[in-house]
Amino acid sequence: MNSWKQMLKESIVQPADLVKRFGVDPRPLEKVVARYPMRVTPYYLSLIQSVDDPIWRQAVPSEEELQAGACVADPLDEENQSPVPNLVHRYPDRVLFLVSSECAMYCRFCTRKRKVGCAQMRITRDTLRQGLDYIRSHPEVRDVILSGGDPLLLPDEALEWILKELRAIPSVEIIRIGSRVPVVLPQRITPHLTRMLKKYHPLYINTHFNHPLEITPEAAGACGRLADAGIPMGNQSVLLRGVNDDVATMKRLVQKLLAIRVKPYYLYQADLVEGTDHFRTTVEEGIAIIDGIRGHTSGLGVPAFVIDAPGGGGKIPLLPDYLQQIGAEVVLRNYQQRRFVYPNGQPAPEALLMAGNQAHLGR
Ligand SMILES: *Cc1c(COP(=O)(O)O)cnc(C)c1O
Ligand code: SF4
Repeated sequence: MNSWKQMLKESIVQPADLVKRFGVDPRPLEKVVARYPMRVTPYYLSLIQSVDDPIWRQAVPSEEELQAGACVADPLDEENQSPVPNLVHRYPDRVLFLVSSECAMYCRFCTRKRKVGCAQMRITRDTLRQGLDYIRSHPEVRDVILSGGDPLLLPDEALEWILKELRAIPSVEIIRIGSRVPVVLPQRITPHLTRMLKKYHPLYINTHFNHPLEITPEAAGACGRLADAGIPMGNQSVLLRGVNDDVATMKRLVQKLLAIRVKPYYLYQADLVEGTDHFRTTVEEGIAIIDGIRGHTSGLGVPAFVIDAPGGGGKIPLLPDYLQQIGAEVVLRNYQQRRFVYPNGQPAPEALLMAGNQAHLGR
């Protein structure tokens, strides 16, 4: 039953291990790996069809990671919004709680590239207790998001301890887990794990598929087991150059996600993370992708396109220009670029009197 641990052990962590199958020169990549760790599970590696394809680009280090850019290590200012180590309290009623420093794969574009899989990221019983104490003493926190690293790389017992502690805090209403395990190590989603997780409802999982090629029978099985345990499944993708930066790919991705019972939640504009410049698209490209999906396929499949504001401002949604003009008339355009007019604000007669006709001024 520990086959996932075996698979994790058999992960590729050295560029030299790519030579046999792909014939690439590993030497330039060794410098990259010295700075940013590499790990690719045999399962995810098996999805690569050719060098530099969308799977390869997410998993295999590139010399471009060492190019200097205008980016910073911690663009979201997470460290300054952490009242205790490994807990980010940015929004009024929810916190991000980093409970694992390891991932099954080290995604080359990771926002926490500065620390995941590195010695700097220290998660200990003590930091976990400090985080739990913080949540306990802040009853305004009603939503706890477990992240990392990947919380599902913790052994079942360690994860269960955290969930049990959180559930003992009356002010915590919902718990969310962010995990890429269903994508890169679906074998981790064992019946034992799902039996344990379902004891801690309401529990949500947001996973992280970026490309339709990642939706395999194995990944579908993992998401299905989680959904069968009553866990609502969401997906957070990152818009990545050369991976998913076109309408056709993204449309296929969201359709396939719905087919495995995963609801597309966010599409992120790539953060300004050091070592990831080569992945970043323009914002217009992201908006064009949303424009190409909304109305063209199931509305259930349309994620919110967001920029996580540099400096810790939080996620800000971006929409195509559907609202073209707002006043006494609202001028709209639909997904086919057709224009429509909606007469604005017909307030009740008494409200109109009270407002001395100001209601006509609009906003
Ligand atoms: C993304 C994020 C959340 C959760 O945001 P939602 O919009 O509620 O999903 C909470 N805290 C931090 C620090 C985050 O980055
Ligand atoms: S799984 Fe998430 S946290 Fe881990 S490397 Fe990938 S993007 Fe970063």
